[in-house]
Amino acid sequence: MLWRLIRFFLLQALGAGLGFALWPLQYPFQGALLGTVLAGAAWALVDLGRGAKLLHWLREGALVPMPEVPGLWGEVGTRTRSLLREREQQLAHSDARLAEFLAAIQTSPNGVVLLDAQGRIEWCNRTAAEHFGFDQQRDLGQHLGNLLRDPVFAAYQAAHDYSHAVVIPGPRSTVSRPMRLSVDLHAYGDGRRLLLSRDVTALEQAEAMRRDFVANVSHEIRTPLTVLGGFVETLQTLQLKPQEQQRYLTLMAQQAQRMHLLVSDLLTLSRLEGSPPPPLEEWHSVQALMDDCEREARALSALVAAPPHILSFSSNVHTELAGASSELLSAMSNLVSNAVRYTPGGGRIDVVWTPLPDGRAELSVQDTGPGISPEHLPRLTERFYRVDRSRARETGGTGLGLAIVKHVAQRHGAELKIESRPGQGSRFAIQFPAVRLMESVQTQFA
Ligand code: ADP
Repeated sequence: MLWRLIRFFLLQALGAGLGFALWPLQYPFQGALLGTVLAGAAWALVDLGRGAKLLHWLREGALVPMPEVPGLWGEVGTRTRSLLREREQQLAHSDARLAEFLAAIQTSPNGVVLLDAQGRIEWCNRTAAEHFGFDQQRDLGQHLGNLLRDPVFAAYQAAHDYSHAVVIPGPRSTVSRPMRLSVDLHAYGDGRRLLLSRDVTALEQAEAMRRDFVANVSHEIRTPLTVLGGFVETLQTLQLKPQEQQRYLTLMAQQAQRMHLLVSDLLTLSRLEGSPPPPLEEWHSVQALMDDCEREARALSALVAAPPHILSFSSNVHTELAGASSELLSAMSNLVSNAVRYTPGGGRIDVVWTPLPDGRAELSVQDTGPGISPEHLPRLTERFYRVDRSRARETGGTGLGLAIVKHVAQRHGAELKIESRPGQGSRFAIQFPAVRLMESVQTQFA
């Protein structure tokens, strides 16, 4: 700056000197003054030219390279350029942060929609687009009210009370594929709003299942309890003959047994749900499981059927099965006891272990019982689902047997296959994966 002032004054002095020397002798001081003014004007003109160059560059922005301007304007230019660069870097950084931020919101499992003060969509993530059926590009700027016409949501939006969420059916919801969305609005900024959506279909279904389950269990327990209560009252109030008393006590014992079975099946199910997966390194002889099952089946058949069933079980099975033996036995005996209970006396029941060509193996229980209509088949493994509710009491089932079988199968990576036709008997098969099967040690060294 000092050097610049010195140069300015030197130019002034030069102008004054020239004016003094060149002007007619009688007006030397006017000549010097004129020289100074002219030198100042020349300086100003040059400066103006440099300033104009810089202004041109600033107007053109980054399209034109910065002109080489010496002096003060040059310094102004350099400083401006570095300031601009800094600003550009800051902008690029902010853009990158914004892109990262939006990418994070894109991956959110919840729907996010940004609305402007007029309720128009400014931005929405993929999940929101899926939930509401929006097009992420085309629907930007559209009024939310035009796209989301659910009356519950419209009332919620109009009430301006955003302290709670509302649950609405998803716009693409159908009877076969229902979709329930929990949506809530949050006000922010200058009249803007944030719309959040969450898919609560599974949650609502689980809640409905829980309610049904509690209602079913209560019903199943209340029925024998009512019967028991009735008998107790009769025994208390009426003078019965010993024979009649005995009959009543037998019926009471049956009801107590029914409740006992129900509670023990419920405990089995809850254990299956809460316990760790069955081990892959605990091996059990299939033949031993089959023998246990056979003993149970023969005892049950002798109890419930006359004439007894014709029972046949695979023998000489030299395979080991990995898993939890109590669970495997429970699944097998549930299938076998169903076959015994539903097949009339004299009917045939075959329990067969068959290796499958792809390395898996199957345990099948086939009976010559009444069979099941196709419409019931997909629902048989639901808890408390029975084909014939009125017959349930006679057969003494809890309605949980096949639910237990399915659970055990799933836990062992196996599949439960059911084939049945009315009048043609039924076939229930559990297909075990190859990883859980091994040839018995005795056969390996035989
Ligand atoms: P339950 O304790 O009532 O037998 P399950 O879950 O074991 O309950 O079976 C569900 C329903 O499937 C039964 O109520 C019965 O209607 C039907 N079912 C099961 N096994 C057989 C079978 N072998 N033959 C005919 N129907 C069967």
